[in-house]
Amino acid sequence: MAVYKFYLGHRELSKAVFEWDAADRTALLTAFMLMEVFSHWLWCLFVWYRRDTYGAYVDINLLYPVWISVSIVGVFLLWMSSRFSPVRSVSSNLHIWQALIITIYSVYITFIVAILGHSSLVTGVSLVGGAMLGMMLINRNYVWRAFIGQIIAILAVSLLPYFGITIPNLRQLTATTLPPSIHSYMTHSDMTIIKNEALTWEGLNHLRQSSNLLWRSTHIYMSLPKAIFIIYMFRILLVSLDDSRRETLRHANQDELTQLKNRRYGLKKMKYALATVREYQDLSVMLLDLDWFKQINDNYGHDVGDQVLIEVSQTLSQSLTDKTIISRYGGEEFLIVLPDTKHDSAMMIAEQLRLNIAEHVMKIEGLADFNVTASFGLYTLTYEERACIAQGYEKITQQKTVARTSPLIKPIATQRAESQIASMQKLPSDICQRLISTADKALYEAKHRGRNQVVSANEMWAEKKGGKQSLYKSR
Ligand code: GH3
Ligand code: MG
Ligand code: MG
Repeated sequence: MAVYKFYLGHRELSKAVFEWDAADRTALLTAFMLMEVFSHWLWCLFVWYRRDTYGAYVDINLLYPVWISVSIVGVFLLWMSSRFSPVRSVSSNLHIWQALIITIYSVYITFIVAILGHSSLVTGVSLVGGAMLGMMLINRNYVWRAFIGQIIAILAVSLLPYFGITIPNLRQLTATTLPPSIHSYMTHSDMTIIKNEALTWEGLNHLRQSSNLLWRSTHIYMSLPKAIFIIYMFRILLVSLDDSRRETLRHANQDELTQLKNRRYGLKKMKYALATVREYQDLSVMLLDLDWFKQINDNYGHDVGDQVLIEVSQTLSQSLTDKTIISRYGGEEFLIVLPDTKHDSAMMIAEQLRLNIAEHVMKIEGLADFNVTASFGLYTLTYEERACIAQGYEKITQQKTVARTSPLIKPIATQRAESQIASMQKLPSDICQRLISTADKALYEAKHRGRNQVVSANEMWAEKKGGKQSLYKSR
């Protein structure tokens, strides 16, 4: 059970890192930042509440501006996390917001580290841990730059006191004598707040140069290169993981021979197109099959058949826009999905494709030039029919029958149908198969009518007297 839970957690985590939408991952990182900032806020509250006890160690006057700054950053992060849903669809804006969050967070954490007296533990965990988490969740280049910027800022903050610039420090030391054994462990700012008459400024300077600066520099010298190396290697690891994942996906989604998307991916994209189709948009589906392809194989050989498939695929890709989903559905059958395309436009596109294929001359070495043709079956799912399918076909058909017979009722019925389209939530799970098999019937008809032509299933239905025009008419 424990292993199962671990496995689930691991799966969820890998999903968050590799599959979640960029906006969701940014929102998750913002939530982590928010939790951290909230823990700082609670610390301020705790110290303020117990100020009678801790006032001796904490500069309470400085605590208030720190607390306000922590609150401002907290409110900003809270506002940011609520912004991600609207930002989701605009990826260029998302990058700007990611850069802004990472910059503000880096400045904030440097400020906290400085004001706490640059504790090496907090600095180390924030630098390395924060960068690793950021790289897993958002744009790696931004995190890498922020990481380098943070190192420079922390170095500057650590070294400033040695140039005579004092940075306010929350730590308040009340010691009146300075045991020699702790000299090396105290920061410059610790020492400047020790009000010890026995310890003169010359003495302090001496300490600073002989011990403090040396040890502080030694710590930085020994730990920073390792931190940079860890983050650099981690970045490379994530980039190579991304590359291999992209490569695996490419192989899983692409057809080796034609370089088109394969059937599985084509169907996945079709499902997505149907799920995201907008209210008044029609969606057209085409199935095309090369004519007499077996003869090409038989007459010229399989290699020539392969070459024909490659060239037809190139003709399809060149003739259609990026919005179109083109996939190799079977041997020499191709599935084309045209989102937001009305029947008439889809017919024109199909006709143009048919011409492009038929006019393309196959030039194969050692063979006489030849042409191939293709037959097309097309079906357009109109938004009205989509609404009918989603809402229950029979119910709306009745309304439409009434609407057709009565001009008075028509506007009301149309309005009702429209509001049903608006409230449409779900299409049946086998909708893709239904659409394809409808286009396939039209393709069969195109073959039957003599090949090298486009047949529309919508027109076939319309020609059939009294035939109900629906994918789900059998129900
Ligand atoms: P029709 O006009 O009725 O479609 O006739 P057809 O000869 O094209 O008949 P059919 O669609 O049944 O033929 C499909 C042929 O496609 C059979 C198969 O050998 C061939 N084929 C399928 N995949 C490949 C492939 O990857 N390369 C080659 N060279 N041939 C393939
Ligand atoms: Mg064929
Ligand atoms: Mg076939």
